[in-house]
Amino acid sequence: MSNYSLVIHGGAGVLASSTMTPRLKEMYLKGLSDAIEAGRLVLKRGGSALEAVTVAVVSLEDCPMFNAGRGSVFTHKGTHEMDASLMEGENLGAGAVAGVNGFKNPIKLAAAVMQKTEHLLLCGKEAELFGIAQGLETASPDYFFNELRHQQWLALRDTNEVKLDHAVQVPNKKMGTVGAVACDMFGHLAAATSTGGMTNKKYGRVGDTPIIGAGTYANNKTCAVSCTGHGEFFMKAVVAYDVSCLMEYKGLSLQEACDYVIKDKLVKIGGEGGLIAVDKNGNISMPYNSEGMYRACGKNEEPSQLFIYESPEMF
Ligand code: ASP
Repeated sequence: MSNYSLVIHGGAGVLASSTMTPRLKEMYLKGLSDAIEAGRLVLKRGGSALEAVTVAVVSLEDCPMFNAGRGSVFTHKGTHEMDASLMEGENLGAGAVAGVNGFKNPIKLAAAVMQKTEHLLLCGKEAELFGIAQGLETASPDYFFNELRHQQWLALRDTNEVKLDHAVQVPNKKMGTVGAVACDMFGHLAAATSTGGMTNKKYGRVGDTPIIGAGTYANNKTCAVSCTGHGEFFMKAVVAYDVSCLMEYKGLSLQEACDYVIKDKLVKIGGEGGLIAVDKNGNISMPYNSEGMYRACGKNEEPSQLFIYESPEMF
């Protein structure tokens, strides 16, 4: 097989189309375009799905437009706590971190957990010490400071509300959580997801992103999935693994499984969000039940396609 597929997302919450300015749209599309092309380069030269999803997510983490890495939202205490995970479908290898701060690319920390420890999920201070020992690049608090994110937090700080990035009513708000899924030339699958979580989150809250089976899952037998949305619901519905199970045990196609979980099951329990997925044949699915989802996909020699709302965007 000499085909490949790559899909990325920058979050299922988008600015209402009525408030999206041409300048902001251009900035989001640039962030998506840089990430999809970086990941495609890896796949084109015969690189692995795992490498491609890592490279794409690093690019999205470095872009301040999205809620991950540099653009992470503020916690109730005015700090940043990031979650990330990745998984490869060939051997079900996986790594994840939760509630970490001070690393430029939390996805690299998750990769180090997978490659350098016998554990799967590390959290908080100890995970940070592990990252430092691995020589991963750190960043000071001002690297993560972002005026719009700060406004979002100020709007909620004195309330008990915890909000999805896109649900915070601040003009020109930014939103995110990022992810990537890929099928490489050898038919291997991988998924990666990274987030700053929800604005004003408290008590060490951890969402679906670092939970294998909820926010991220990959299995060469079925599919690779990366989710974005209200994490509590994605955990209850075990969304990423559910898509894989519907394919494995019920024989659903990728599209049928994804649509059923996002547009039916999740809607019934009140969960807002979406996911991106690829199967072992390189098929792609990108369903969401929110107003839109920042996303892009690229396959073989076909040009990449970028989306915010339903129709493809010109960039
Ligand atoms: N799923 C993420 C969380 O709940 C947030 C998001 O996707 O925007 O932490």
